[in-house]
Amino acid sequence: MTEAARDDLPVFACKTGSHTWTFWCPHCRIEHTHGAGAGHRVAHCASGPYKARGYVLAAGGEAAKGGQ
Ligand SMILES: [Zn+2]
Repeated sequence: MTEAARDDLPVFACKTGSHTWTFWCPHCRIEHTHGAGAGHRVAHCASGPYKARGYVLAAGGEAAKGGQ
């Protein structure tokens, strides 16, 4: 099984909104916004350590304004 490689991906706690999840990227020093839902994403970074394999989104950050 090669799926184990995913265990090495960084996990970011997101602010969870109704339609989008947002987290603060420590590399870009800006927020990246993705469609709502936990799991693996292609990195929105223009460059940097997450670009090659992406990262994993998890709920648990500060709640986004107006969510739900
Ligand atoms: Zn980034």
